[in-house]
Amino acid sequence: MSDFKMHAYGFVATWLPVLWVFAVGACVGSLVNVLVYRLPKGLPVIVPSSRCPKCDTKLTFKENIPILGWLMLRGKCKFCKQPISAEYPIVETIVAVLFAATYLLWYVAIPGREWLGVEWGAVKPEWARSGVWETLPAFTVLLILLGSLVAMTIVDLKTYTIPLVLTWVPVGVAVVLHPINTLFVEGDAPRYTAGTLGDWIFAIPDPSRSWWWLGLCGGAVIGLVIANFLVSAGLIGRSFADYDEWEAKAIEKEKAKRASEEGGSTEDPEANTPEMWVQYPHARREMVRELAFLAPAAALGWGGAILAQNLGGAADVPLWLRVLTGVMMGYLIGGAVIWGVRVFGSFAFGKEAMGLGDVHVLAAIGACMGWPDAILTFFAAVLVGLVMAVVGMIFKAKVARMMAFGPCLAIGAMVVLYAKPLIEIGLGELMGKPGGFDLP
Ligand SMILES: [Zn+2]
Repeated sequence: MSDFKMHAYGFVATWLPVLWVFAVGACVGSLVNVLVYRLPKGLPVIVPSSRCPKCDTKLTFKENIPILGWLMLRGKCKFCKQPISAEYPIVETIVAVLFAATYLLWYVAIPGREWLGVEWGAVKPEWARSGVWETLPAFTVLLILLGSLVAMTIVDLKTYTIPLVLTWVPVGVAVVLHPINTLFVEGDAPRYTAGTLGDWIFAIPDPSRSWWWLGLCGGAVIGLVIANFLVSAGLIGRSFADYDEWEAKAIEKEKAKRASEEGGSTEDPEANTPEMWVQYPHARREMVRELAFLAPAAALGWGGAILAQNLGGAADVPLWLRVLTGVMMGYLIGGAVIWGVRVFGSFAFGKEAMGLGDVHVLAAIGACMGWPDAILTFFAAVLVGLVMAVVGMIFKAKVARMMAFGPCLAIGAMVVLYAKPLIEIGLGELMGKPGGFDLP
């Protein structure tokens, strides 16, 4: 075979999969557009096909192709000639680039090439060194997490709410696919040993080989399910249940006060007091209610740990159960970090600190990426929030409300996903450990 042919084959073999992952990302981006448009409005996600938002004309198959469809139409509806927002192709491109970049960084090693001062081959997480086919389930989990994070960021920026289904989808996928990944190695681990690593490494760190952790995490998850059931059955009160009623009354009061003070000012008090939730006086009481919600999880986690320890004894925990424990542990610790800050902050300041939506977001990140990454993501998100606040002050833009922590978490998770080796080195420098840490 000629030299040129060799090169051509190598080129196609390297870039065809990248193009494929890019195309899959564009399609997921298209789905993200649908979710962002339909979820806040409560519209069904799957049933109706895509239509022009202005004249309701159905889009043809060709016009529905991500990115290219919009370009072919030149940003205008063929039927009513109204412009179609450039947001659609932009979101599709962002998700496609994220997918392709993840694949490139993790599976296409370019030896000797550096990225931000670190060798490219070292940027990929250790588990990805086993190659794309051996880690396809874990890779899929992270791609779905990325798509969900983009969707929830856009919805949060637009509506200040996070549709919880966007956090449940990646959790469900993580619960199924991470354990499935163990089927690739069970009983045959050495075949998949990568590089200098002595053992197979999973995308999800499992806490240990003991039954104790499995019982703890399993019991806590069952406790959460029971608590949710008790809430929907009306046996435990929903926290902040009277908030809407209180806000409506407070706005009425404010209106009346202004009318009497300023001789009938027509200003809308709602527009002038956007930080209404800060004044809600019962935040501490509501925290007691949320702790009651968590009580079954604490009790069953403790009981489950003892029970599993006694039942399991000295036998080995099967590999897939260890990985499932890791997923549950990431979910619980991710959620607990934000919920802990929320409870302590609300008790300390008497105001609601951090939204429950953010609890779901970091729990989902933990389930997909593991508990150490969830904790790193929290600190990265705080830094992202600080940077955004400073940038906002410099440009005199209105700093977003304090509760918009969801987008910070999404960006923080991506920082951890793509730059964990850099974080390990940076932490090492900070704490005087040359060469950096090797976090699980
Ligand atoms: Zn139209």
